[in-house]
Amino acid sequence: MAGSDSVTPFGGAGPRDLRGRVLRDLRISVMDRCNFRCPYCMPRETFHDKYRFLGSHERLSFDEIVRLARLFVRLGVHKLRLTGGEPLLRPNLTDLIGDLTAIAGIEDIALTTNGALLGKHAFELRAAGLQRITVSLDSLDPEVFTRLSGGFGGLEDVLSGIEHARRAGLDPIKVNTVIQRGVNDHTALDLVERFRGTGVIVRFIEYMDVGNRNHWQPGMVLPSKELVARINARWPLTPLGRAYHGEVADRYRFTDGRGEVGFISSVTQPFCGGCTRARLSSDGVLYTCLFATHGTPLRDKLRSGASDDELLDVLRRVWVERSDSYSERRQTHLAVSERKVEMFYIGG
Ligand code: SAM
Ligand code: SF4
Ligand code: SF4
Repeated sequence: MAGSDSVTPFGGAGPRDLRGRVLRDLRISVMDRCNFRCPYCMPRETFHDKYRFLGSHERLSFDEIVRLARLFVRLGVHKLRLTGGEPLLRPNLTDLIGDLTAIAGIEDIALTTNGALLGKHAFELRAAGLQRITVSLDSLDPEVFTRLSGGFGGLEDVLSGIEHARRAGLDPIKVNTVIQRGVNDHTALDLVERFRGTGVIVRFIEYMDVGNRNHWQPGMVLPSKELVARINARWPLTPLGRAYHGEVADRYRFTDGRGEVGFISSVTQPFCGGCTRARLSSDGVLYTCLFATHGTPLRDKLRSGASDDELLDVLRRVWVERSDSYSERRQTHLAVSERKVEMFYIGG
């Protein structure tokens, strides 16, 4: 039964939303600031020196994040992803990772970073209990990289960050590459070539209309099918099944045995039907979709003495009332001018 607590086809119990989807993953943005200015996420014209980011007291404290994570586990969450903004800009992040790994019921913690500070932090992240990492890297061409990071951050730093992550024992290491037609699609095969056979898994993401500032147009999307064909022509691919229910990437292995590559095709092949994710912004607003126009603020409740039961009631209610399916109805939504939440604010 949708919209209630019950045993689910996804395994395990927990509240189900109006489409029968359970809650399994929580993405936590720990920092709204970033040391890059990727034009599709935080364009420089908007995020300039005078832009007012959150003050440290406005962000959820580690204790508040951990308290919420424990409550989410009671509703079925067993995977966490730390993101941002740039999560490695959050001071003492390893303390948070240590606390989150200690929560019974959390089976997996991941982190998504632009990689510029990874060389500095990889070993302490691993020591704190982080097992795997995702590094965003849109091109190996220095000129394209610079354009796509907004002129900040060095390609060499990111590559050295990935190498440090490997040496620190973070495994698997995934590289996420957002592909924009005519911008970086001509450099996609270089990334495949570089990481094939190294154990690093490259995943190509279709460019999405997240937020309100990137002037997204359908023509800027390179459908994954086209990219699969380009890669397959050079290095034959064999499709792999999904690793688990709710897995968003279509995975292929290189037929010659030199690893795998993934495709996240939320524009051309939406996967809303299996979407088990909630998202928490760095100031404690809960969102149930990457393209949400409204969220549920939790910070004031946390800071005004709400009990665990009261908070659980709020979280459960938000989930059972959820009906999100933006990507399945993109065309309809595009016609509506309501402001969506920004990607840097809730993370990917
Ligand atoms: N700063 C970190 C990073 O870049 O990995 C974490 C936050 S960032 C918002 C998370 C992911 O969202 C990155 O992989 C980024 O490339 C992706 N992203 C941002 N804007 C996007 C868009 N318009 N379409 C697809 N992916 C996007
Ligand atoms: Fe920063 Fe990540 Fe957004 Fe780029 S995608 S501006 S690195 S938050
Ligand atoms: Fe989930 Fe929203 Fe993305 Fe659909 S559009 S998969 S509901 S986050």
